[in-house]
Amino acid sequence: MSDFEFFDLFPNIYQLHLPIPKNPLKYLNSYFIKGKNFNLIIDCGLNHNEVEKILFAAIEELNFSPSNTKLLLTHCHSDHSGLSVKLNEYGIIVLVEPTELKVINDPFIWEKESEALKSLGVPEDILEQAKETQVAYKFRPKGEIKFYYPLKDGERLDLGNFVFQAIHTPGHTRGHICLYDEDHKILFSGDHILKDITPNISQFYEHELALDSYLKSLDKIKDLDVKLVLPGHRTHFFDLKTRIKELKDHHQKRLKEVLDIVKNNPGLTPFEVASYMSWDINYSSWEDFPPTQKWFATEEAYAHLKYLVINGTIKEEKDKIKRFYYS
Ligand SMILES: [Zn+2]
Repeated sequence: MSDFEFFDLFPNIYQLHLPIPKNPLKYLNSYFIKGKNFNLIIDCGLNHNEVEKILFAAIEELNFSPSNTKLLLTHCHSDHSGLSVKLNEYGIIVLVEPTELKVINDPFIWEKESEALKSLGVPEDILEQAKETQVAYKFRPKGEIKFYYPLKDGERLDLGNFVFQAIHTPGHTRGHICLYDEDHKILFSGDHILKDITPNISQFYEHELALDSYLKSLDKIKDLDVKLVLPGHRTHFFDLKTRIKELKDHHQKRLKEVLDIVKNNPGLTPFEVASYMSWDINYSSWEDFPPTQKWFATEEAYAHLKYLVINGTIKEEKDKIKRFYYS
């Protein structure tokens, strides 16, 4: 039996910490909810031996059998979905938003993302190292989720003692889902809203507008009556409105920073813009950033650049491979 601890944050809601090795996030918050009609697990951690032991020990401890338990994924990232295929094989149905399911079940998704990052100016050796060292790649779900229910915006999950509403909140990923219980005023915020970390907004598909979607998704939930926010990482919190305001302010500051960088250094790629940005991370210089962090930083820079391009504030030019920005 693996050592684990449940944190009781609310009657019948148990929080379980699933480790994320070598990552500043430290662990994923998985939630186990004891329902009258069925039980619900929200997010399931990396596809890693230790994590698997903890997860299955927790399932056993609470007596969650496959026939009366469902797994809901807030989004496709491996720290949330890693063990979904294994739980699926164990007989647990997966509730997952369709675009997220597509990403999880696409065996070539990493190659596609890696290819897209070349156009952002990330050197190939960094891409290769980032892929190899990335826990999200190493411990991704392997195989396919076959037994699932496609979760859509507004869908209700009636557990008897809790009634959850799925809220589509694109931004962190395209199909990100939050869960809201109106009676108990509880919001499971996934990685849409975290307390002391700003969720990474990555943009890598040409046609999407990650930051624009993200800001709209913050507005979408800002007026919900919420007393307890249960996020995908780190601590729970109570004041949703203040946190949303802080996140919006953060991105406005970021947009200004990116605009200034482009004005002062015309013709940079997103990778180069990222190297000029300030990052809240413990490395003294951009050169010291691990390849994975350079990857995330570049995607984040690109999300802000794209937003400024769409608003007509800056211009994008492309050669055969890369994108460049001018004010
Ligand atoms: Zn996460």
